[in-house]
Amino acid sequence: MIKKIFLAIILIITVTQCATKDSSSIKINSEDTISVRPKLVVGIVVDQMRYDYLTRFYDRFGQGGFKRMINEGFNCKNNHFNYIPTYTGPGHASVFTGTTPQNHGIISNNWYDKFGKDMVYCASDSLVRAVGSDSELERMSPRRMKTTTFADQNRLHTQLKGKSIGIAIKDRGAILPAGHAANGAYWFRGKDEGNWITSTYYRNELPDWVQKFNESDKAASYFKEWNTLYDITTYGESGADENNFERGFKGKEKATFPYDLAALKDQNAGYDIIKGSAYGNSLTADFAIASIDGESLGADDITDVLTVSFSSTDYVGHNFGVNSKEIEDTYLRLDKDLERFFGVLDTKVGKGNYTVFLTADHGAVQVPSYLKKVKIPSGYFDMVELTVSVMDFAKRTFKVNGLIEKVANDQVFFAYDVLEKNKINPQELQKAIAHHILQYDQIDKVFTREQLQMGTFTEGIGALIQKGYNQKRSGDLVYVLDPATIAYSRTGSTHGSGLNYDTHAPLLFMGKGIKQGSTTTKTTIPDIAPTISALLGITFPNGATGDVLSFVLE
Ligand code: ZN
Ligand code: ZN
Ligand code: ZN
Repeated sequence: MIKKIFLAIILIITVTQCATKDSSSIKINSEDTISVRPKLVVGIVVDQMRYDYLTRFYDRFGQGGFKRMINEGFNCKNNHFNYIPTYTGPGHASVFTGTTPQNHGIISNNWYDKFGKDMVYCASDSLVRAVGSDSELERMSPRRMKTTTFADQNRLHTQLKGKSIGIAIKDRGAILPAGHAANGAYWFRGKDEGNWITSTYYRNELPDWVQKFNESDKAASYFKEWNTLYDITTYGESGADENNFERGFKGKEKATFPYDLAALKDQNAGYDIIKGSAYGNSLTADFAIASIDGESLGADDITDVLTVSFSSTDYVGHNFGVNSKEIEDTYLRLDKDLERFFGVLDTKVGKGNYTVFLTADHGAVQVPSYLKKVKIPSGYFDMVELTVSVMDFAKRTFKVNGLIEKVANDQVFFAYDVLEKNKINPQELQKAIAHHILQYDQIDKVFTREQLQMGTFTEGIGALIQKGYNQKRSGDLVYVLDPATIAYSRTGSTHGSGLNYDTHAPLLFMGKGIKQGSTTTKTTIPDIAPTISALLGITFPNGATGDVLSFVLE
C-alpha cells in the first residue's frame, strides 16, 4: 500500500514537470496554432533584384511598398541562393519548390539535353499549344520541372479548391512558380501582339477577364515617354546617365532619359520595348490586380496562391547595368506599383487576411568594364575560344575526333558513343580535361562528374556547384570563372555565378502569421517554400530540402 502511494506521487510529479515544460517551450495544441490559413498567399519575385537595392534606394521609397514590407513584416537580410547557376529558370523553380536544380531539374534557362542531343528551354513543351497567340515559340508548360511547388501541395491539401495562378511577363517566371496543378499561368506576348497569353496545358481558351484585359489596350497605353519619376538631378544612388557601360534602345544614339517608347517601338520589336522599360512592371501589376477579381482570389476561407514575377527589372539591368539611372528609376517606380498592389489586396482580400513574401530569382554583377575602371578585378570571357581549345586538346591527347559533344552553361558534355567506340575511360578524359581547363586564364575552379557524384561538399563553391548539379541533366565537367568575369557583352549587367553579387537576394515576409522583425542569420532560397508550407500546415513540396524559418512565423 505504501509502495503504491509512493509510485502515485512520483507519477504526479512527473506529469507536473512535463506540463510545465510543455507550456514554456511548446505551443498548446489548439485550433489556431496548428496552422494559419490566410485567404491568399502572394509570392512575389523581382527578377534580378540584388539585396542592396533595398538599402540603396530605401530613403526614396514610399511608405506602402518595399518599406511597408520591411517595417510591418520580417526582413531576412542575409538571404542567399545556395547553388550555381543563378539564372531565372532555376531561381523561380527553387523559390517555389524549396529545393535546388540537383532535385527540381531546372538546371538553367536553356540546357543541352544529352539524350535528345539538342538544346532545350526550361519551360518549352511541344505537346501543348499557346492560347491567345498563334506563335510556335510560345508553347510552354512546367513539364521539365521534376518536383512540386508549395502551390501544388496547397492544391492537393484543399481537394483542388484552393486556386493557384502564376503571372509574369516572362513565361518561365509565371509557369514554374504556379506549379504543375495550377489553374493557370499567364505571360506577356510582345512583338506586334501585346497580349497576356497561356497554354493548352491549363485550358483551351483565355478566361473572360484575360480577354477583357487584352481588349482594354492597357498594354498599348505604355507606349509613352519614359522619363525619371523625380528630377534626375536628385538621383544620387547611381552613376551618370550617360556613360560607356550601357547599351540602350535601338534608334536612340545615347542611353539617356527621356525615352520616347512610342517613337522607338518599331525599331525595338514593338511591345517588347515595354518589357524592357520600367512600365513592364506597371503592366504586370495592372494584370495581377485584374486577376484578384477575375479569379476570385482570396474570396473565401480556402487558401489561394498567386505568384507574381516582375521581369522588367531584369531586362533593364541587362541593358543598362546595376549602377544606372535607369535601374534607380525602375525600382522607385516598382515601389509605387507594389504600393498600389498591396492597397488592392487590403481592400479586396482584407488587411490581415493575406500573407505575402518578396524575393528575387538571382542578383547581378556590376558591369565589369566599370569595375575595371575603378580597379576591381573583373573581365570578359570568350566561351567560343574555350570550346575550340577543349575540343582540340581532347583530339590531340586521345587521338580521337569528336570526344566533346557540347560546351554549354560552363559545362562540358562528352560524346559517350565516341568514348565507347574507342574504349576511352570517361574518368581519364574528365581528369585530363579538368587539368587542361584549369590552365586557362580566367578559369578559377573545375569540378568533374566523378567528384560531384562521389562525395558531398558541405561548403564553398563546391557545395554550390553540387546543389546545382543534376546527375541526369548536367555535364561531365563544370568550370567556374574568376570573380566578376562574365561571358557577356561589354555593356550591361548579367548573372549566373555563386558569388555574393549574384546570390544575395532580398527576402521579405508580411501579413497573416508573420512576425515583425529582421535577422542577419543566414537563410537560403529553398527555405521559403517549407516556411510557407509550415505556415499553412500543408505537406512540404515533395523534393523540398530547405528549412522552416521559424523566427519569421508568429
Ligand atoms: Zn531572372
Ligand atoms: Zn543611361
Ligand atoms: Zn537576367
